[in-house]
Amino acid sequence: MPRYDFRCRACGSTFEVSRPMSASDDPATCPDGHADTVKLLSTVSMTGSAAAPRASGGGGGGCCGGGCCS
Ligand SMILES: [Zn+2]
Repeated sequence: MPRYDFRCRACGSTFEVSRPMSASDDPATCPDGHADTVKLLSTVSMTGSAAAPRASGGGGGGCCGGGCCS
């Protein structure tokens, strides 16, 4: 489930909310109870895709990746 960063405009803190993408535009409430929050677009972390190294479908042969093996 993607996580969305929100920032509270009342107290200035940022917090994460995990929610389905279908609910990504729903308002979030600050952990301190403030409702005046904005969604930050910077980190929509699709867990894994950014952290995973480039697995380019090679078999892990060692020299593949430089183009030396067909
Ligand atoms: Zn707040």
